[in-house]
Amino acid sequence: MDISNLVSRQKKMFQESKTLTHTFRLHQLKKLQKIIERYEKDIFAALKKDLNKSEYESFATEIAYINAELADTIRNLAEWMKPQKVKTPFSHKGSKNYIYSDPYGVTLIIGPWNYPYQLIMAPLIGAIAAGNCAIIKPSEFTPTVSRLIATMIKETFDENYITVVEGDKEVSTELLAQPFDYIFFTGSVPVGKIVMEAASKHLTPVTLELGGKSPCIVDKDAKLDIAARRIAWGKYTNAGQTCIAPDYVYVHEDIKELFIEKLQHAIETLYGENALENKEYTKIVNANHFDRLTAYLQDGTIRIGGQVDKDKLTISPTVMDCLDWDTPVMQDEIFGPILPVFTFTNLKEVQAAVRKAPKPLALYYFSENSQNQEWIIKNITYGGGCINDTMMHFANPHLPFGGVGSSGIGGYHGKYSFDTFSHKKSVTKQTTSFDLSFRYPGSKMGLKIL
Ligand code: NAD
Repeated sequence: MDISNLVSRQKKMFQESKTLTHTFRLHQLKKLQKIIERYEKDIFAALKKDLNKSEYESFATEIAYINAELADTIRNLAEWMKPQKVKTPFSHKGSKNYIYSDPYGVTLIIGPWNYPYQLIMAPLIGAIAAGNCAIIKPSEFTPTVSRLIATMIKETFDENYITVVEGDKEVSTELLAQPFDYIFFTGSVPVGKIVMEAASKHLTPVTLELGGKSPCIVDKDAKLDIAARRIAWGKYTNAGQTCIAPDYVYVHEDIKELFIEKLQHAIETLYGENALENKEYTKIVNANHFDRLTAYLQDGTIRIGGQVDKDKLTISPTVMDCLDWDTPVMQDEIFGPILPVFTFTNLKEVQAAVRKAPKPLALYYFSENSQNQEWIIKNITYGGGCINDTMMHFANPHLPFGGVGSSGIGGYHGKYSFDTFSHKKSVTKQTTSFDLSFRYPGSKMGLKIL
């Protein structure tokens, strides 16, 4: 495919101003809604094929979320598109002042493999709502989903407006060399840096949705049954291949053993006594990641799980005691169903440990003490998170989702997606009925009306 030609054609299409009206955008969002409805079974099947995702997981974490995001965007689009009137200072008397949301133009959306449908569709909804054209590059590691998205988009949109370019990092590199007007990237920290460097050549603005090690803290006054269930769900959904999964746990020393007991009970309730026998349990995406993860099993004492099946690429929900941060499992984002557990006696120890690592994408704190909850929120920097829960902040369209520091730049979801894909154009509409003298040289700041 001639990528440079494709980008030029999309630029031409954008410059025809067709994408600007509310009618056009709404129509495209509704077309997307229809094709999603029509292909729903295929989406489930593709997610099953590439990752062995169960229907429940595919629905809860990919399909339902996108359906809700689309419906919310369709409902609110007219309101979001309205120029926003702002206050007029005295110095601007007579004028009216507005913020217009202007589409950037031709956007590039690059996605990862772990939620290969949702993490392409969510930014696409924002790009369409804001009036942009888009080129989409899904991950090559989930080829069935990538193919399906390409088919759905081809059936729905003119390729000069929205299209999919499939392929691996070579294709991605070629795309990144083009003069896009906006780049929305979801993926790893190292590739995020490559994207930002490529974008800088054209001064293209970026959103980077990256990863990192997200801490989970369980204090001694936490309600342990519910904490264990919510942590097990957050960690082992998608076999831990979730950017906002709790990466590791700091549990108060006094309740560690009780917490591990409760965690075991929660794991068995969610996945059965032998998760590897559970046909609904998600697999690891490929053999490279499987090998990387199984090597971590030597980095601590296994307390729960630790079973692996190389043929099926599955690793059971695993919990291990981890004594120090120098082990390989604590060097990188785990991105798999292995949960190292550390203990603490004072929250300041946890703060110091978290601060030594790059700023996390998410943080979860379990405690009934509201002062401690506020202390954690205010004294540790992280992208976003929950008190007494895991991952749920992601799915609220009224909350911006994104990282900070090396876990990402920018945010999206709901109106924040619309804003992310819009340039905020400031406009002063001035009166010509009168003129104030004080801004002109020699007027000595008088307020004479000219
Ligand atoms: P990745 O960075 O390896 O790949 C992401 C995309 O970039 C893919 O489409 C891939 O083809 C492309 N790519 C890979 N290497 C490239 C290169 N050298 N140049 C240009 N493009 C390249 O990430 P992944 O393994 O697909 O996904 C896992 C990572 O994504 C984890 O770190 C996870 O935390 C992160 N993630 C973040 C979020 C979020 O919303 N913040 C969501 C999901 C995943």
